[in-house]
Amino acid sequence: MEEMICITCPMGCHLSIQRLSASEIAITGNRCAQGEAYAREELLSPKRVVTTTCSIAVPKANAGPKAGDRNQASLYRPRRVPVRTKTAFPKERVPELLSILAGIEVALPVRRGQILVADALGSGVDVIATRTM
Ligand code: SF4
Repeated sequence: MEEMICITCPMGCHLSIQRLSASEIAITGNRCAQGEAYAREELLSPKRVVTTTCSIAVPKANAGPKAGDRNQASLYRPRRVPVRTKTAFPKERVPELLSILAGIEVALPVRRGQILVADALGSGVDVIATRTM
């Protein structure tokens, strides 16, 4: 018997889970159907919203401040674009996704909510920018 707490709402029901087979579980302790759905997803196909940052593609002609440049505005150049998956992504594939996101460069300008990677790894989940830059 496994125990978990449903975090879907503030009630925080204590769920007891009995594994019947590799794909079947019996859940008790939930006060509503959402608790059962939560436990099934968490135990059988867990998903997480993934947040990280991606590199910004810097045009070669604009590669950075020159030596001796004292203009603070020109010295500030954001180096990373914050991104996240638009919806929850399969947990077991998160390392694979992070590896791909670590290798991409985003061309500016970018808008908050803009899709940067569509259908990441064939999951049906898009990766979006979370900031306009
Ligand atoms: S089982 Fe239902 S009532 Fe209980 S914490 Fe989950 S969502 Fe809330």
